[in-house]
Parts: sequence; structure tokens; C-alpha cells
Amino acid sequence: MALQVELIPTGEIIRVVHPHRPCKLALGSDGVRVTMESALTARDRVGVQDFVLLENFTSEAAFIENLRRRFRENLIYTYIGPVLVSVNPYRDLQIYSRQHMERYRGVSFYEVPPHLFAVADTVYRALRTERRDQAVMISGESGAGKTEATKRLLQFYAETCPAPERGGAVRDRLLQSNPVLEAFGNAKTLRNDNSSRFGKYMDVQFDFKGAPIGGHILSYLLEKSRVVHQNHGERNFHVFYQLLEGGEEETLRRLGLERNPQNYLYLVKGQCAKVSSINDKSDWKVVRKALTVIDFTEDEVEDLLSIVASVLHLGNIHFAADEESNAQVTTENQLKYITRLLGVEGSTLREALTHRKIIAKGEELLSPLNLEQAAYARDALAKAVYSRTFTWLVGKINRSLASKDAESPSWRSTTVLGLLDIYGFEVFQHNSFEQFCINYCNEKLQQLFIELTLKSEQEEYEAEGIAWEPVQYFNNKIICDLVEEKFKGIISILDEECLRPGEATDLTFLEKLEDTVKHHPHFLTHKLADQRTRKSLGRGEFRLLHYAGEVTYSVTGFLDKNNDLLFRNLKETMCSSKNPIMSQCFDRSELSDKKRPETVATQFKMSLLQLVEILKSKEPAYIRCIKPNDAKQPGRPSAPTGLRGLGLPYRDDWRLTTHPFTLPPGRFDEVLIRHQVKYLGLMENLRVRRAGFAYRRKYEAFLQRYKSLCPETWPTWAGRPQDGVAVLVRHLGYKPEEYKMGRTKIFIRFPKTLFATEDALEV
Ligand code: ATP
Ligand code: MG
Repeated sequence: MALQVELIPTGEIIRVVHPHRPCKLALGSDGVRVTMESALTARDRVGVQDFVLLENFTSEAAFIENLRRRFRENLIYTYIGPVLVSVNPYRDLQIYSRQHMERYRGVSFYEVPPHLFAVADTVYRALRTERRDQAVMISGESGAGKTEATKRLLQFYAETCPAPERGGAVRDRLLQSNPVLEAFGNAKTLRNDNSSRFGKYMDVQFDFKGAPIGGHILSYLLEKSRVVHQNHGERNFHVFYQLLEGGEEETLRRLGLERNPQNYLYLVKGQCAKVSSINDKSDWKVVRKALTVIDFTEDEVEDLLSIVASVLHLGNIHFAADEESNAQVTTENQLKYITRLLGVEGSTLREALTHRKIIAKGEELLSPLNLEQAAYARDALAKAVYSRTFTWLVGKINRSLASKDAESPSWRSTTVLGLLDIYGFEVFQHNSFEQFCINYCNEKLQQLFIELTLKSEQEEYEAEGIAWEPVQYFNNKIICDLVEEKFKGIISILDEECLRPGEATDLTFLEKLEDTVKHHPHFLTHKLADQRTRKSLGRGEFRLLHYAGEVTYSVTGFLDKNNDLLFRNLKETMCSSKNPIMSQCFDRSELSDKKRPETVATQFKMSLLQLVEILKSKEPAYIRCIKPNDAKQPGRPSAPTGLRGLGLPYRDDWRLTTHPFTLPPGRFDEVLIRHQVKYLGLMENLRVRRAGFAYRRKYEAFLQRYKSLCPETWPTWAGRPQDGVAVLVRHLGYKPEEYKMGRTKIFIRFPKTLFATEDALEV
């Protein structure tokens, strides 16, 4: 049945004034046609916008089918209660405009279609009204859309929050810190052309009026091995290519660089310097500008670029063996550039690259390096120089983000909104120390998620005086303990082995592990496995049964990577650097410090414990990102521009369905998605959320929405909202088993009760 409706275009969104029933919009030759569609058909076709409304909520297949239906309609967002699930569309859906931001401001979370901005706004309002610090935790595997989500959130706050009375530049700095960090910390990988190779936690500070006045960034475990080696099809960090492509002639001349990345050994390992999706030249312009915004002086930019260039020159340092098999530097030109750019003595650097200084019984001994050792020392230096510069850069950005006005009264009552964009669970063909650290980090975050979400759910029932029906869920504390426990944990054992230089090897580490944790249900090695499993485990491997599944780690390189040694004379050389950034990165106190520096794993463990404490002190919000396919392929193509003007395809509300014309379906790789649903613990999350009641709402909100359905509550209810709701649901004929009245909220057991009430609104 065709129906006359009045269409009011409000920016990109069409509001259907009449009818009250779900409609179908179609673009015919005679314009827009609107047809009726029953609420049920709409739900069938585009799924439910909150997984708690799924009838068959324990079925993973139903969960994935709901995601598929929505994805097919370009509806990339779906809730599990307050948790937002997002599927990467791999295309610009034009759903992040200023109009979209406005649409989600000040409205109730559940009254608008799911969107990142709904979370952004809810979090911000809680920050302002309850004055409680907030933390948005964004997780998902590489390429799932974590960094994009973080950027959109920041953009939302930058554009919609009031400007601070003083120091308005902080908004620009918050935004501009991103391209700089991405240039130095992101790289093209097989999974993502702009993959973050570090974890990031960013605090945005707000004054009492809700204006952003400062920020602070914590970074985690930069993948520095990428500086000297990239797998086939991957690149080094973006900044190298950007500088070569976009740097001015004069700059490159000063740095002794040639434009062609093929000339640099540190850039050719992955054999893909050029990537069609990346424009290094224009990206460099953005980075250059951003550096100025975040307070870099011209001198500092020069110093920073000198370091970037010196890493490239280091990669081209060659050695030849003399008659005693000792390494000698053969690339004089490179050495000359490095000494000039870093402001170090040429002879000192030459000696440091080819000798190792050992202090024995108070005496200094110089021992020559062979070719292999010299190459190792060179690469270790390049990695140390780059990663320390990255840490310095984060510090520099933090100084620029720190409020210049700490004395002002607005600072006395700041609130903080944290954004966590950190690597997701990783399982490769070959998993090493890095994957071990990343997966440990995910265990910790999962534990926090369990603790906060599941516990808070239980606490809410208790607080509301509603009987809690226990849910079975897997508590992964046992795996966290296996990794981090003092003396018995994997990290402790690894550190112990690192204390026995010359004696310990990766294999003795494995043996010690086998001895110490042999009976652990989540740990396995070749020796400990039964006949059948043994085949799938190599002798130099151990397997952990993570909450997200099994991962087999090869121990090769564990000791070396955990020790992260830089020979003493290389450190000394860098401490003498006249490049101001370098001299801040290498401090002389390091040389006299008798205490052994913390190992990489222990440092990481401590920084994670600190992160967990930070997150625990805040009100959490979760965004779970999912990657629809491994080929970085978009889903449905964008709608024709004519239609986009009317905003039809982007009205992502199940009551007003999206564009009905046929377009090729996007790639929705079910196997891949099922894995992620598991890794992200989504079914567990849903099960808990639906354990007793599918839906709950504050009495005020419930009454406000449905009061028109009962003559006694319409147009206003003068008494307590709770009593109004009691009258209302009695009038609606809710049966006692269908709902419970808590202290501040009504709890509804089944989705169908809610749907019936919603439908009643529309008649
Ligand atoms: P990594 O862990 O490797 O850093 P990530 O989860 O941060 O991965 P992103 O870099 O955010 O992944 O996303 C990968 C790419 O996917 C982006 O460069 C962008 O092209 C696309 N993408 C992600 N989210 C969206 C979105 N909401 N809309 C459109 N495109 C998106
Ligand atoms: Mg990222």
C-alpha cells in the first residue's frame, strides 16, 4: 500500500511525520515513494539494534545473523546494553558529520539508533552531570577500526564541547597530536594500511564548564623491531616514507637523504614502499603543520628530522671483516652523516659500532665484534634511537597538551575522559615475545571487563533489590596469574633466566617453565602434551590456552627481546650527543646506575597494572570493533549522491528502513567474525546482560516515553515516577512474571513485552 507522507529533510536525516508505522522508502522515477512495512518485517530485515532484544540470545548463529543483517544495510553499530559493537565498513558512510553530532547531543541513548556519537554524548553527559571520570575502552583486532573510532570521538568532543575561557588552542593540539603520533607509531601491515604499532591511552581533561582544557597520553610497547625489519608486504613507520616523499629539497640535502626509499635498507625489507591507499607526500604536509600546532620550534623539527635521517643512514652502515674476522665500518659517508646529524664524535661512534665495552673488576675492556655482532649492535642502536625518540615525542606532546593555566580556578574541578586504543588479541602463524605481551595485555583488559561489567551487572540487581540469578562465566584470572604471578609466573621465570647471561638460553627458559608450571591447565609444551597434541607442538614452543583460544608461542628470541640490551659504549656515545633530543633520550645517569634496568616484560607488566588502576578509577564505556573481512574490502557501495542529499540510506533506525534498491552485498566473512565475537567475549557479555531481564530503564525515562499509553499518567503524572510506572504497566496488562520493579528502575524480562509497548505507541 502506498501512503502519502510529509517529508521534512533535516540536513541528512529525513523525518517521517506520518504515518506512525515503519515505512519503506524507495526512489522511483517519480520521486520518493513511501510504503508501509510492519515493524516485524523491519526487524526481520535489518535486525535488532540491541542484541539484548534477540529472542534467541544464547545462539552465536543468531548473534552473527543479526550483525550480518545490519551490516548489509550499512548499519555498522549495534548495542549489547551499554556496550557498542561496531563493524568496520571500510568506506566513508558519511555518518560523522556535524549534523550527526547534533542529532546525538542531549538525547537518551536508547531513543536514537546506535551510534558512536551516542556513546560519546552519554559519556560526556555523565562526566558533566555526575562529575565522575570516564574511560572509553576500544578494543578489537588489527584493522577493526579502533583508531578511527578514537579519532571520531575526539572530533566529537572538539566540535561539540564549549570552548575553554583561556587556552582554546588545546582543542587543536588534541586533534593534531594524532597525525604526529601516527606518523611515528603507525605503519602499513598486511592487516591494516595504517596499523598502530603501539598502545595508546589518552586522557582529555575538562573544566567545570565541560570545556576541554588539557590532555595526557600514555603509550605502550612500540613495536620497535619494525625499525630494522619488516615482513613481506609491510612497511617501516610512516614517517620515513613521508619525509622522503614530502620533505623539501633543501631539508633532504641537509640530511643527506635521497628521495628514493629503495636506497635505504631499513625501508626495502617488506618490498612495498609505495602503497596505493597512502599519500605520503600530502600526509607529510599534515604532519609538518601538526608539529607546529603542538609547539615544535623550527629547531626542534630539525633535530627530530636529523634523528629520523640518522636511523636511515644507520641502516646503510656496512661492515667488512678484517683478517682477524673483526668487523670494520666500510661506509664512510653514512658514518659521516650520522656523526653530523646526531652530534657525536665519528671515532667514538665507529668504535662503539665495532667493539663492545665490558667493565670487569673496575677495568674497562674493549672487545672487538665480529660481523654478526656488529650488525646486531647497529640494529640495536637504530631501535633504541627510534623508540626513545618516540617516547620523547609523547612527552613533548604531553607538555603541549598540559594546561598552561594550571593555577586557574577552572582547574580545581577538572574531570577526565580517557580513551584507550590498544592492540587486540593476536594469533599468527608464528607467535613470539611481542604476541605474548599483547595477548597478556588483552587478558588483563578482559579481566577488567569481566570485573567491571559482570560485577556491575550483579551489583545493579543488588542495588535495585532484585534477586540475582547467577550466570556461569569464565573468569580468566587464572591465566593472568599464570603470566604475571611473582616467582611462579611466566614473566618472573623469564626474568630469572635473563639474569644468567652466557648460561641461559631460550631453551633453558622453556625447560624452567616446564618445571615450574607443568600442571597448569592453561599451559602446554611438547614434553607435557599427550601423544595426539604433541604433533602440533614444536620443541621450542609453549602453548597458552587464552580466554580467546589457544596460542602457540615460539621461545626463540624471548631472552634477547626481554633483555633489550644496548652495549654500554653505544649508550655512552649517545649520551654525548649534541642533538638536544638525543641527549634527553640518553641520560648519563643510566651509565652509573648499578641497578639492572627492568626487563621489557616487567616494565610492560608494571605499566599494565598502572593502566588497570587508572581504568578502574573511572566509569567504563566499551566499544568493541569487528573487522568484516581480511581483504580490507568495503561492504555495500555508497548510495548515489542524489539520494544521499535526502539522507535516506543513513537513517539507521529499524523503524525507518534504509535504501531498498539492490546493491551488491559486502564481504562478511563469517568465520573471521565468529572468531572475533569469541575474542571480544561478546556472547559472554550478552548472556550476562540477558541473564534475568532483557531491558531496564529508569522510572522517569520509562514514564516519559510511555505515559501517553495510559489515561492516568497522561499528560503528566504528579506522584513518584515509580508509582506512575506501576499504574502504567498495570494498565498495559504486564503480567507479574514479565517485569520487576526495582528501587529506581523497571526491569522487563522479555523483549516481546517491550516490543508490544513500543508498537502500542505507534497506533
Ligand atoms: P590496528 O590495531 O592495526 O591499529 P585499528 O583497529 O586501529 O587497527 P583502524 O586503523 O582504526 O584499525 O581502521 C583500519 C581502516 O579501516 C581505516 O584506515 C579505515 O580505512 C577503515 N575504517 C575503520 N573504521 C571505519 C569507519 N567507521 N568508517 C569508515 N572506515 C573505517
Ligand atoms: Mg589503530
